Amino acid sequence: MGAGPAGIYAADILDKSDADVSIDIFERMPAPFGLIRYGVAPDHPRIKGIVTALHKVLDRPGIRLLGNVGYGTDIKLDDLREFYDAVIFATGAMSDRALDIPGIDLPGSYGAADFVSWYDGHPDVPRTWPLEATSVAVLGVGNVALDVARVLAKTADELLSTDIPPNVYEGLKSSKVTDVHVFGRRGPAQAKFTPLELRELDHSPNVEVIVYPEDIEFDDGSIAAIRSSKQVDMVVKTLQE
Ligand SMILES: Cc1cc2nc3c(=O)[nH]c(=O)nc-3n(C[C@H](O)[C@H](O)[C@H](O)COP(=O)(O)OP(=O)(O)OC[C@H]3O[C@@H](n4cnc5c(N)ncnc54)[C@H](O)[C@@H]3O)c2cc1C
Repeated sequence: MGAGPAGIYAADILDKSDADVSIDIFERMPAPFGLIRYGVAPDHPRIKGIVTALHKVLDRPGIRLLGNVGYGTDIKLDDLREFYDAVIFATGAMSDRALDIPGIDLPGSYGAADFVSWYDGHPDVPRTWPLEATSVAVLGVGNVALDVARVLAKTADELLSTDIPPNVYEGLKSSKVTDVHVFGRRGPAQAKFTPLELRELDHSPNVEVIVYPEDIEFDDGSIAAIRSSKQVDMVVKTLQE
């Protein structure tokens, strides 16, 4: 159940195993590949490129993809039990975790899942996005925060070479955003983004990354965190450069 990478790779492993299996993959959306299609940022073509490998799995004779079939709505566990020997649930995590902070429900406050779905052309979200703000706060310091910050900060023309839909190009072109602030609860030693994504922010000729010196001062706990992880160490060094 679910034709994201987890569902398709599970089918791949089963199909290559010694077991005599035929596999049906049910997918809620009309098209497969889950968050690779509707989550990974459009300017990450190398990651999006795994769809080529996933496609080859779906092309195998022992594997069928049945799109537009949602578990819980179109098909229930009893139906599956009737026709299959085993069911694997690989339905992913499609929506944001609720953030319990005052004002989260005010106009102009959005979860990343919705914005990301918009720029990746998810059919369930509106075609337009209100990009009227000049200054945007991105809360969180993981790779999705950096994806969102980067897409907001780049010009629409920089994304033209990607597979963004025309409505997203038009939306980003009319965006008034000039400043994107990324907020984390703690400092760079506790950030979850990876050095590659961090460096990428600085690759756009139209983006100036500003790091305030007071934000890269470390207490003993942060120094220990930096020493214990090569990735954290690289993130911190990148910010210091
Ligand atoms: C914004 C964002 C950016 C990301 N960028 C990167 C990146 O750059 N690099 C990277 O390696 N990883 C990235 N990831 C992580 C990566 O996308 C996920 O780890 C991966 O897609 C998880 O695979 P999955 O198959 O478990 O779930 P999903 O990809 O979510 O797939 C689940 C599938 O199940 C389907 N489904 C859900 N409910 C039902 C139902 N009731 N019935 C039938 N089908 C259903 C969904 O439609 C979907 O197709 C990113 C994730 C997000 C959210």
